[in-house]
This record gives sequence, structure tokens and C-alpha cells, in this order.
Amino acid sequence: MKYFDYAATTPPDSDVVRTMAEIMEAHYGNPSSIHGYGERADQLLRRARSGCAAALGVKPEEIVFTSGATESNNLAIKGVALRYQTRGKHLITTATEHASVYESFLQLQQWGWEVTWLPVDSDGRVSTQQVMDALRPDTVLVSLMHVNNETGIIHPVAEIGNRLKSAAPRVLFHVDGVQAFGKLEAKPASWGADLYSLSAHKIRGPKGAGLLYVRSGVELTPLLSGGSQEQGMRAGTENVPLIVGMAKAMRLAAERQLAFAGRATVLRDRIMQTIETIPGLRMNSRKDGAPHIIHFSYPGMKAEVALHTLEQLGIIVSTQSACSSRSAEPSRVLLAMGRDAASASGGLRISLGNEHTEEDVALLEQALHQMVAQLRPLERR
Ligand code: PMP
Repeated sequence: MKYFDYAATTPPDSDVVRTMAEIMEAHYGNPSSIHGYGERADQLLRRARSGCAAALGVKPEEIVFTSGATESNNLAIKGVALRYQTRGKHLITTATEHASVYESFLQLQQWGWEVTWLPVDSDGRVSTQQVMDALRPDTVLVSLMHVNNETGIIHPVAEIGNRLKSAAPRVLFHVDGVQAFGKLEAKPASWGADLYSLSAHKIRGPKGAGLLYVRSGVELTPLLSGGSQEQGMRAGTENVPLIVGMAKAMRLAAERQLAFAGRATVLRDRIMQTIETIPGLRMNSRKDGAPHIIHFSYPGMKAEVALHTLEQLGIIVSTQSACSSRSAEPSRVLLAMGRDAASASGGLRISLGNEHTEEDVALLEQALHQMVAQLRPLERR
């Protein structure tokens, strides 16, 4: 089997697994305890916090550890909306965000906030000008992903953040960096971002660990009531082993970023070229997108059928995003890009990781040809 679903999740790095196992067994103290066991755990936590902060170019006290990016996104969006509601109740996002962002805004809408859902163009992109045009005196938050998890399209977060900072400094800017970290440069503070979400399991770290960068001075209403951990923004005993694992995964991903992006781009371009030569398939990703994601539609076929055929041929890919792939609905992202229902329900995503080679890609290409040849007689017309 060849696994090409790194945007859904990645195999944890062996070094990361070893470190986490060691800490779980040997340093199980509660970092809030004041005895030696607690202090040792607190030291590990502090070191991990500094490591995560360094990888993002921010201060350690600006890092809030969470259970993953779903929680980070919920905390950023609802935490800001609740905290700053007297300033205004208008929020801006796009129609193509991850479910954890999309559903958070839907919930706020039900609770009485007003949300502007920016439309995207046929490549899935939103422009800086669209964001600026949507601003109102009562706008409190703009939330935008850096890289789209289905198509790999890159949003101009640095340009948007810097324009916002000069034109509307009171508007807070949240970036979902989950699919971008380790593939593109991640410097939220220099972009003028106030909040930045990240997930460990997309970068060879553990599932169930994530973080939210919260710029000094930004306040959030916590979503969980409890202890005063994480600067009072996220109650609950910190999961020290997973957090240390995430810090290590972030360091490795940052160190490998340039080399990975270079290698993945070559493989991605080759795969895109192959897909473009297969009649019946339609490319949804662009060559100026993220280096690790290739998304295409097979409008003649239901995506699940294509996915299982590829699996029988030894290739693992994904339909939509992992979080939505069990839903029977066509992709919300592709519909927002103006694709018809057949394309939106026939979408497949290939995503690359560190160890993929030219040989792996040759197997993938062979399987794609074989899949279409096998399914051709069954295509809907
Ligand atoms: N945002 C994006 C862009 C994602 O791709 C994902 C993972 N599918 C998430 C947020 C949620 O991350 P987690 O799995 O850590 O909750």
C-alpha cells in the first residue's frame, strides 16, 4: 500500500513517538503541581512552549496549547467574538474554510452575530481587496486559512494581515495554518496575524495536540471553565507528552520545510501533468498552490467508488477533507468555486509527505490510469 493522504493525517515521526513514550512513563507529573514531579513536567512544558514559539517566531507566552486545531479554531473565533462583542458583532470569513471554522461561524450566526462569507473565484481564491471591501465599523474579526485543505490553494495572508493592520488596526486577524506549516513559511507575527492555529498530527506529530498563537494584548473568552492553565485561556491539565511531541514535530517540520517543498513540488507537478492527460479527469489545484496537495474531479464517477478502486490497486487517497469525507454531500469548497454537482461529488485529493519518491509516484500514476480504464464503462453520462 502507498499512502497519499498526508493532508488528512501523517504517520508520526519515530523520534517523536519515542520521546512521547519516554515522557509518558517517566515524567507523568502534573505541571501545575509544586513538588518535584510537577516541576519536572513544568520544565518540559516550558521548554516545549519555547520550541513551538521559536518555530513560529513568536513569544512563548503567546502560545496556548489545545487538543488540536479544531479546538484552536473554535477558541480563536468564538473566544474573540464573545470577548469583543461590545466592540461589534460583525465577522468576516470565506465560504471555503475547514469545518471547524465554518461551523464556528454558523453557530455564532445562530447566536446573533453577523457573518460576511466572502465568495472565492474559480480557483478557490479570495483577494485582499475583497477582505478590505467587506470591513465595517463593527467588524471585530477576519478569519482565513493559509492553505485550503481540499485544493491546496494559497491565500495571501501576509498581504491581508498587513493591510488590515494599517487600515483597520482594531480588527483581529485569525489564520488557520494547519495545512501550511512545514510547507510554506509560517511567520504569523510578521503578517500582522493576531491568532494562528496549528495541529500536530499534520506534521508527523501526535493526534490530539494543537496550539493557538494569541498575540500579546489580545484577550479571549475561554470556552472551557476550570483551572488557570494556559494563561487562563484553556483550562485543563496540559498533555505534556503530546505537547513535547508536537514541539519536536514542529522543529523537524520547520527544519525540513525548504527541502520538502522543493521535492514535493517536483512530484506534484509530475502528478498534475499526468492527471491532465487522462480524459475524464479535471484538475482543481494550481501549480502555484501548496506543494503537497493535488485535487482533481472525476465528474463521471462517485468519489468513493474511485477511492476504493484506487485502494484495491494499492493507493490510498482521499475524498474531500477527512473530516467531511463520510458525508454524502458534495464538497462545499468545490461548489463555492463554481463547480457543478458532478465535479463537486467526484473530487479526489492526493497529498504528499516527506518520504514519497519518484517510484511511489510512478505507482500512483499507473494506478490512476488503471482506475479510469476499469471504471470507464460505469461512468454516468
Ligand atoms: N483546519 C484545517 C485546514 C485542517 O485541514 C484540519 C484537519 N483536517 C483542521 C483545521 C482540524 O485539525 P484537527 O484535526 O487537529 O482538529
